[in-house]
Amino acid sequence: MPDRPLLDTPFLSQAVKTVVGDRTAKILRSGLDIETVGDLLRHYPRRYAERGELTDLASLELNEHVTVMARVESTSLRSVKPKNGRPNWLLEVVVTDGRGRLRLTFFGQRLKWREDQLYVGRQGLFAGKVTVFNGKRQLAHPEYVLIGDGDDVTADDVTAEGDGDAEAAALAFARALIPVYPATQGLNTWQIAKCVGTVLDILGEVPDPLPSELRARLELVDLAEAWRLIHRPESRADIAAARARLVFEEAFVLQVELARRRAATASLPAAPRVAARGGVLEAFDARLPFELTAGQVDVGLVIAEDLAREHPMHRLLQGEVGSGKTLVALRAMLAVVDAGGQAALLAPTEVLAQQHHRSIGAMLGPLAERGLLGGSDAGTRLALLTGSLGTGARRQAMLDAASGDAGIVIGTHALLEDRVGFFDLGLVVVDEQHRFGVEQRAALTEKGVSPPHVLVMTATPIPRTVAMTVFGDLDVSTLTELPRGRSTITTHVVPAGEKPHYLERAWQRVREEVAAGHQAYVVCPRIGGIGGLEGDEPAAAGGGEPALDDERRPPVAVLELAPLLVAGPLAGLRVEVMHGRMAPEAKDDVMRRFVGGSVDVLVATTVVEVGVDVPNATAMVVMDADRFGVSQLHQLRGRIGRGPAPSVALLVTELLEEQSPARQRLTAVAETLDGFVLSRIDLEARREGDVLGATQAGRRSSLRLLSVLRDEDVIVAARAEATAVVDGDPELAAHPALLAALAAYVDPERADYLEKA
Ligand code: ADP
Ligand code: MG
Repeated sequence: MPDRPLLDTPFLSQAVKTVVGDRTAKILRSGLDIETVGDLLRHYPRRYAERGELTDLASLELNEHVTVMARVESTSLRSVKPKNGRPNWLLEVVVTDGRGRLRLTFFGQRLKWREDQLYVGRQGLFAGKVTVFNGKRQLAHPEYVLIGDGDDVTADDVTAEGDGDAEAAALAFARALIPVYPATQGLNTWQIAKCVGTVLDILGEVPDPLPSELRARLELVDLAEAWRLIHRPESRADIAAARARLVFEEAFVLQVELARRRAATASLPAAPRVAARGGVLEAFDARLPFELTAGQVDVGLVIAEDLAREHPMHRLLQGEVGSGKTLVALRAMLAVVDAGGQAALLAPTEVLAQQHHRSIGAMLGPLAERGLLGGSDAGTRLALLTGSLGTGARRQAMLDAASGDAGIVIGTHALLEDRVGFFDLGLVVVDEQHRFGVEQRAALTEKGVSPPHVLVMTATPIPRTVAMTVFGDLDVSTLTELPRGRSTITTHVVPAGEKPHYLERAWQRVREEVAAGHQAYVVCPRIGGIGGLEGDEPAAAGGGEPALDDERRPPVAVLELAPLLVAGPLAGLRVEVMHGRMAPEAKDDVMRRFVGGSVDVLVATTVVEVGVDVPNATAMVVMDADRFGVSQLHQLRGRIGRGPAPSVALLVTELLEEQSPARQRLTAVAETLDGFVLSRIDLEARREGDVLGATQAGRRSSLRLLSVLRDEDVIVAARAEATAVVDGDPELAAHPALLAALAAYVDPERADYLEKA
């Protein structure tokens, strides 16, 4: 082990094996993804154990690798079936935090010494993976360090399990606050503490990404100091000081990156698109059968201003389900057409692309039929380009796009293919943007002569700071109000597991809606039959929660449930199925008939989740609703309540325990129609890493401590500081350490926060 860092590589980017043993370095890499000295220093304690303060055992999660401070409550040693003809023993030790209990189990040929060591009343740190045996949580063969009875712990009081571990264990107990690190098989928390300690002991000055002026003004400690304080705190105040600085750094570096992207976009040239007077937009507005909502008017003005600039718009339009985003986008597209350009609308599914084509065509009427008999000369043409088109239709659509004959081109991923070209693409609209990767957005924007304006839409409302973080390179507009004349949606949880007749009642309710001239959706988590990919992945696993035996459960797959409904509770109604394994034409056919009213009940998977707009549908039954995420249920429910008639959503669950988290999520969905409230619940249920896509393959996130929900103030402040720094020094010439840090941070555009919604 060199006592000084090598000179040719900066210390922080050196491989950890220059400071720890080979075996340890290997485990650090495979188990914790720690490659460099810097990675190790950024491996922060999960929490701190305090001598005498026992860990809340109720908080332990199954299958987690945990470290707990606990006290031995009882032990029992008994012989079990001999192994290899030799005596075999089982030692069970129950430890407690004063309230709950956890069992430790050891098997072996000689365990008496261990029983003596783990006498009743003894305290220690126990580390291992939480498993369940006979319905009780346990740690099998945990590693541990024990401390003496007195308060003054010396190295002699510390007993460690395993060779050469005593030293690490003694170090672990040298302080009042014992850092507890996320650990892994083969490397427990006190061994990690020792590795970190080795590095801290030789740590000199480190380049600090935070400008010193900023640090001084905000009273933040420097980076090396923060690392010392977070790994070896003397007090809770030390930890707080370290965290304040490190959290700010994470927010700041990310916001600098986003500010640079905004600046880069803002410096690109784009053709301004100002709608000519007396054009198709005016004609369209005159034809509209309803009034725009105030939000639609406001956002429309903002977008018109953006389009008139000489730099490309990059705007996110988020809005409550059913708030009328498509109309806002359509008016922007028409403005671009009036200015002589073209617009492309990218939809995530065939169903949605077809629906947009149909409904935009209907809204435009003769305005979409320029050059055709009865079409308006002031109008334009629509083209639809999807993967399922026949060769002839596809060639025609591509021709219309390339010649500029089609002012508006609607399509799916097929639009992104290289051979699809435009005459003059001025605006790209991405619907349900969370379904697309950034690369796909980029592929489309590259089709413009100059960079087109971009409007992305999402119906998953997200809290402001999440938007600032995940979509921080975009300007954000929000539609909060729903158009007038919408009915309310009443939502009920149907506990079919406890009260099977409630499910009967649900089908009865569907019949009543149909009898009143309305239509209904029945949504299933699975397709059924053979294969059955789509929807087979539960959105939010209700795993491990008690439910009825499978045989007693009603089927929850489209292909199994539909025939049962036709033969039973929905007999006589016109029931059709729709799912992702059907051919696109078949889906379109069913959808058309559902829109046209000749289908009463659509039994479908989540293919109807986004965008589908049938105002006459007033009821939705979601089977096994607990398998869906909160935001997803909100999306699904947004398919009803789109017309004037009151609507009802019935969330069917087999879960028995009313107190289980999955059941409570359903109750939350039933209690509010506010998508912002629900997306927050969704986010809180997730781990922070997922929120920012930290688990991206091949890349470890540098966002360790920042929480987009908890640290709102920090994010807002960091954004202001970051913008100021980038405005003053766009190339960051005066901030080399900051520049270097940017490269190491998570790529926020790749964050797939919404992907899993
Ligand atoms: P979402 O925001 O969920 O994508 P849509 O754009 O699909 O919502 O709009 C939902 C429905 O509301 C559509 O049928 C649309 O024609 C209608 N709509 C949009 N704006 C208004 C308005 N201002 N008044 C009445 N209905 C409207
Ligand atoms: Mg929509």
